[in-house]
Amino acid sequence: MIALNKPLAPDLKKLTEYLAQVNESGWYTNFGPLHQLLTERLEKYLGVKNLLLVSNGTLAIQVACRTLDIESAITTPFSFVATTSSLLWQGVDTAFCDISPNSFNMCVTELDMALSRDNKYHGIVATHVYGNPCNVEGIESIAKKYNKKIIYDASHAFGVDVGTKSVLNFGHASTLSFHATKVFHTIEGGAIIFKNKSDFDKAKQLINFGIKGDGTLGKPGINAKLSEYQCAVGLTLLDEIDDIISHRAALFNTYIKNLKDIVTLPKWHEKATLNGSYMPIFISSLKKQECVLQALKTNNIQYRRYFTPSLDLAFPELKSFGCLNSQEVSEGIFCLPLHYHLTHENVLTVCNVINKAMSK
Ligand SMILES: *Cc1c(COP(=O)(O)O)cnc(C)c1O
Repeated sequence: MIALNKPLAPDLKKLTEYLAQVNESGWYTNFGPLHQLLTERLEKYLGVKNLLLVSNGTLAIQVACRTLDIESAITTPFSFVATTSSLLWQGVDTAFCDISPNSFNMCVTELDMALSRDNKYHGIVATHVYGNPCNVEGIESIAKKYNKKIIYDASHAFGVDVGTKSVLNFGHASTLSFHATKVFHTIEGGAIIFKNKSDFDKAKQLINFGIKGDGTLGKPGINAKLSEYQCAVGLTLLDEIDDIISHRAALFNTYIKNLKDIVTLPKWHEKATLNGSYMPIFISSLKKQECVLQALKTNNIQYRRYFTPSLDLAFPELKSFGCLNSQEVSEGIFCLPLHYHLTHENVLTVCNVINKAMSK
């Protein structure tokens, strides 16, 4: 079988050394030494400042909203459900605007139109789907025009740069998920990268029950801290991250080379580097789609319909500015196997199966 995904397993020897350190100090959570070390190493690796580790990528979005005082937002219907459900759990008044049919990311023209029709929203919450950066320049100019705050759900975009800077440096905040299925992980975990140090300080207090540095109480907070054992997993895996991302990106390129004339692929941001987080393909013809999916099943190749349904259809009670592109894409999109343990030979096998099924 060729598996869709296979989580990274941390080297046990290295991991145990970190865990022994924790046991010895007796400092298991609450911004301990490994938390500090992982923060510093991630900031350096990613090329960012003001990185706050949190307990998962869902709370990352919620805490970012609370920190930036975002009580209403326009978001994308084409993402993992957590992008929307985290906003709803947070009580954010949420509306959808459509995606670009080329990049599958939030469409700048649609966003402009939505805000020109209804300017009440405080924030824009957009996802860099499949690690492909949004039109960050375009979204930034719209946010300036209407005076809005931007949060990027960058759960898929660990290690991705746009031009010479990290994609995480765009927007007022970017969020990461370090769930076990992601490119880099701490089993459960995540981070928020803030543009402003003052927002970072505010959020650090909020994720620790709202307790201030001097021990007095501020605004009500939540518990969203990452524990020392989880940081140990992150530190262990981070040693191998260059190797992991370059292998995944190479596999991604092998896929592209062999599939670009056969199926539709999202159009990537021209200045983006690759992290090989997902391998999405789009097939509009239902008949062809069925043929390909059947062939993958027959050959024991896992795939996943990702993302479907379009979230405006999953949450019909929410306002939508019209999301036909997202609805159409979500009907014909699926992801192929892509992970660190996959080989180029595996990729060629998958491509051959798809090629044959498409030419039937
Ligand atoms: C994984 C993911 C999340 C949620 O992250 P968790 O760490 O699992 O809470 C949010 N948004 C996107 C786009 C994701 O892929």
